[in-house]
Amino acid sequence: MIPAPTLAVTPVRSALLDAFSNVRHGLTYRVPGMGAAEGNIGYGAPRDHEAAWVMRQHWCTVIGLDPHRIVTMSQVHGAEVRQVTALDAGRGATPDSDSVGRADALITDVPGIALLTLHADCLPILLVDPARPAVAAIHAGWRGTVAGVATAAVTAMREAFGSDPRELRAYLGAAIGGCCNEVGPEVTAAWRDHMRHLGPLAEVAVSQPGIKEHFDGPSANALLLQHAGLIPEHIDIDWTCTRCRGDRWFSHRGQGPTTGREGAFIGLAEERD
Ligand SMILES: [Zn+2]
Repeated sequence: MIPAPTLAVTPVRSALLDAFSNVRHGLTYRVPGMGAAEGNIGYGAPRDHEAAWVMRQHWCTVIGLDPHRIVTMSQVHGAEVRQVTALDAGRGATPDSDSVGRADALITDVPGIALLTLHADCLPILLVDPARPAVAAIHAGWRGTVAGVATAAVTAMREAFGSDPRELRAYLGAAIGGCCNEVGPEVTAAWRDHMRHLGPLAEVAVSQPGIKEHFDGPSANALLLQHAGLIPEHIDIDWTCTRCRGDRWFSHRGQGPTTGREGAFIGLAEERD
């Protein structure tokens, strides 16, 4: 038996999304001393499944979502988007359940569903359409970014829910920053190719402080979202770098591939009458 965590934790939230009382969201993070695995909520080997499930329940309770209605996907660094329906509730929630399958973005308009993406440096993006209402959770590493996963999620919300991009709110959570994300030339080449219609604007996501180039995923995705029709005032970026702050965040680059996973949760509150 793994004891329930006793530490009081507060998920990281965006004031932009918190303005909507029917939206529940939050980022989990690394908490030394919390449970058996410092707050890890990923199930991938060699992590402890039981401990991670205890953590998921703990974080969900604090955020105000039902852990038994978590929905996850098998993240593959692509641009596939899945629309989550009421029938999907709980897919990927517990260690013995299967996720909805291979994808890197989940969208839903079903109240009570808890969309969850898992991260250790890759960027979490949460979207809210306050009008429908509807929400999305996106996993955007550099491959997903240049595959256009953020743009694909906005397009999917337009098609599924009639979402107007000018009304969408976006929260870009903690991720490896341009400060630490040293990359090979194939990464910046893929980015420049993906954004070639924007010309020099694409350079906002590239820097070269030393010999190698650095890629800034949050800046890149903010640019993609603006190009998809979101207005800048509706994009909230948390500039925390997970590698610089490895004391507080799981970082693949900083701690290696077997480190834990933090999560980005979002869902619509269930209506009560
Ligand atoms: Zn950094």
